[in-house]
Amino acid sequence: MHTAKQIANFLKDHNNYIIIPHRSPDGDCLGSSSALLLALRSLGKNAAIVLPSPISHRHEFIWDSSYEKVDFKCETAISVDVAADDMMLGLYEEIYQKADYRICIDHHTTNPGFGSLNFVDGKAAAAGELVYQIIVELGVEMTKDIAERIFVSIADDTGAFQYSNTTARTHMIVSSLYDANIDSDSIMRKLFATHTVAELNLLKFVTARMEYHCGGKICTSYVDSEALIASGAEMSAADAWIGLTRAGEGIEVGMMFKLLSDNETRVSLRSNSYVDVSAVAQKFGGGGHVRAAGVTFCESYAEAKKKLLNEFEKLV
Ligand code: 5GP
Ligand code: MN
Repeated sequence: MHTAKQIANFLKDHNNYIIIPHRSPDGDCLGSSSALLLALRSLGKNAAIVLPSPISHRHEFIWDSSYEKVDFKCETAISVDVAADDMMLGLYEEIYQKADYRICIDHHTTNPGFGSLNFVDGKAAAAGELVYQIIVELGVEMTKDIAERIFVSIADDTGAFQYSNTTARTHMIVSSLYDANIDSDSIMRKLFATHTVAELNLLKFVTARMEYHCGGKICTSYVDSEALIASGAEMSAADAWIGLTRAGEGIEVGMMFKLLSDNETRVSLRSNSYVDVSAVAQKFGGGGHVRAAGVTFCESYAEAKKKLLNEFEKLV
């Protein structure tokens, strides 16, 4: 395990960085990756972000196409918020493995440490907390642009500072971001209180398809192509409603199934207070955090649901 200082010293001594967030990128990986990119560029380094899959409409406000401009040969690849190498999809083989050096910056307890330098801290609420520490060690000025991207990262992964991963350190970091005049209210509105019409249309399907199991302790819902066509939404719109699967009174475990095809089912797992969903995700090759994890089955929705219910029945 390496420290923020060791990572910062390495970054100062080298050049030509490709930053890779995880597939289906969320506010944490996009915010922390772009904050790190801006910090490296302010040091005069060549740096770019290469995305395994496109960003969603929700995060466009922190994005600029210039972040993705690669006009140099990669020397060091940096994964940010990537829990497992397969979460980089083909970029793991194409870029990460081929780089001279590999840095892994992450906050998933299930991360095996696949970099040559690993800064992994499961107690950090978001990868943005780790990138913040690196930027402080780099001695780079905390500009409004950088501070807002770290704010997006932390606000997103803590569910607006609601989840159990929120700590005193989270608030201390965020409080210092206000020194850079961040527009926190505008960011919060964009992240948590603004939805496309398609997303709202999809919500009808998500609630109509909720099923309760184990005396109301487990709730499942699903999104399939029928719901997407009828609502005009893309599959990533389902992410806006994952939290609702654990919102019902008395529910401990929520599961949102995304039916990608007849034999590919992605599941987002959430819990409220005592079930470790990452442990269950890991049993099936996935991972994540204690209260939020994910796994992809090469199986039908019915099979995946049966297997997960079988595990969670023993735990709720
Ligand atoms: P989400 O349900 O929002 O896609 O993911 C919840 C958390 O679990 C995120 O931190 C995400 O990175 C992690 N996660 C989701 N799917 C997988 C997976 O297949 N493998 C691993 N290791 N982590 C995952
Ligand atoms: Mn994260």
